[in-house]
Amino acid sequence: MNVESFNLDHRAVAAPYIRLASEKQLDGGSTITKWDIRFKQPNAEALEMPALHSLEHLFAELSRNHSDKVIDFGPMGCQTGFYLTLDGAPQWSEVAELVEQTLTDVMSAEAVPAANIEQCGWAASHSLVDAQREAAAFLAAREAWEQVWA
Ligand SMILES: [Zn+2]
Repeated sequence: MNVESFNLDHRAVAAPYIRLASEKQLDGGSTITKWDIRFKQPNAEALEMPALHSLEHLFAELSRNHSDKVIDFGPMGCQTGFYLTLDGAPQWSEVAELVEQTLTDVMSAEAVPAANIEQCGWAASHSLVDAQREAAAFLAAREAWEQVWA
């Protein structure tokens, strides 16, 4: 199929993990990479919408304090994780470090950025506490991030 994740056997993965999903050469010669940041085991559990949404806002904003390579950070529709799109093809360890630094920032955040009706399309659907609980759980599993397959 055309979409990388449609060719991924979701029964074979072991969340939480960080996986290189795809690498694309752009016209002009530069490279972008898309990373699968999986918080929850597919078809077993999912992030609640307010946690997912607040993690999206927090990570999108805070990750850019650590890297100018962040193109996009977006939630998966299945609510089990996020796609991080980066300018360039960094090593796995560099991506893990960016995720670790950003989620550490999430833990000390005092508010969800742009969680208001001017800057967000569903401002009522946010939870800083739930986002921080999920970030803490992901950080606590740091040793397992490189283990993608069950
Ligand atoms: Zn929003």
